[in-house]
Parts: sequence; structure tokens; C-alpha cells
Amino acid sequence: MAKPILGMIPPSGWHYIDGDARLNGSTYSNLLSVVESYRAENHLPIGDVEGDVNSYICTNWPTFCHGVDMVSVTSVNPSGELLNDIQVWAKNLQNANKPLMYVTDELAEERAKTCRACEFNTNWRGGCSSCVNATDRLSASIRQGRETKSSAVLGGCIKMRHDNRSAIFFDKETFDRANNMPTNCWLNI
Ligand code: SF4
Repeated sequence: MAKPILGMIPPSGWHYIDGDARLNGSTYSNLLSVVESYRAENHLPIGDVEGDVNSYICTNWPTFCHGVDMVSVTSVNPSGELLNDIQVWAKNLQNANKPLMYVTDELAEERAKTCRACEFNTNWRGGCSSCVNATDRLSASIRQGRETKSSAVLGGCIKMRHDNRSAIFFDKETFDRANNMPTNCWLNI
């Protein structure tokens, strides 16, 4: 069965239409939980949540799916697509149905140093300046303006498709880790 590629966020974010309801998730696994809870709370048959979500995403956006297993994308279009994905990622977190959990500034600074040295930390601030500014504001909003000594110079992660400047502040529960992350990544620790 085709399955979504974890490194590619579907257009307008991780979501599923269940009857008349649009259900949003901050990540793929969070979306599965949201759909399951929605069905339970509304006394609907739970059914095959993962199959239904996969089918919805892969029918509508087949290029966002892999036919064999979940993989992450390693080849991406530099700033434009990454900017869009970061915007969707940040919106998903902003609209998440549970409070965001943050780590200490000390831990965030350690993570920032790891990202700075990582080949997958990439500048996403290019092209449309108003889009860049809007995405920067959104990203600052989800991390509640947090900053460390090293965080301000970070770009986006082309593996995880998130803004490293904000991601370093979130608890690891916030992430669905792609399956071929570099061994030095702080998400592995
Ligand atoms: S792979 Fe990990 S360490 Fe590298 S940029 Fe992405 S989040 Fe940072």
C-alpha cells in the first residue's frame, strides 16, 4: 500500500477529511491519533485509521507518497519548497490540539551547535521577501520568541523540513523523525 513520505508535508499540512470534518495533525503520527480520537469521541467505527489516512493523502497527492515504505526525501529544491514546507510545519504546530513543550535554553543551544555543523542545515530565506518575513514571524511565534547564542544563524533542515531556529526548542515528542537521519543529529539522542 502507498504510504506518505514523512519528509514531505502534503499541501495545506497533515490533514484528513472525515465526513464533514477536516482533521489536522502537527505530524503524520499526530494526525493518526487525532483521527482515532475523533472517531472514538463521535462514536464512529474506528476502522483502519492509518489505511484511510494513507489512502486519502496518496490518492490526492500521489507524488507525496512512496509505494513501498516510508522514506524521507533527500533531494529537494533549495529555498522555495523548503520555505513552503517550513510554513506548513509552523502552521501545523500553531494549530496543534495540544500545548507545545519546550526544552531548556541550554539544551537548545547544544542542538543549535549540532545543526550549525550539519550538512543538512540550509538557508531557506530566499525569493519572495514578504513570504520569508511572514514565515520568520510564524516561526518566531511558535517558539515564543526564544533565541540562544547560536540559534539566530540557523537555517532549515532539508531532512526534517522544519526551521532549525525554532525546532531546537521543542521537545522531541513534537517530531516524526525521518528514517535516514544523520547519526550526529540531535534527534537521534
Ligand atoms: S539533520 Fe538534525 S542536526 Fe542536521 S540540520 Fe537537521 S535537525 Fe539539525
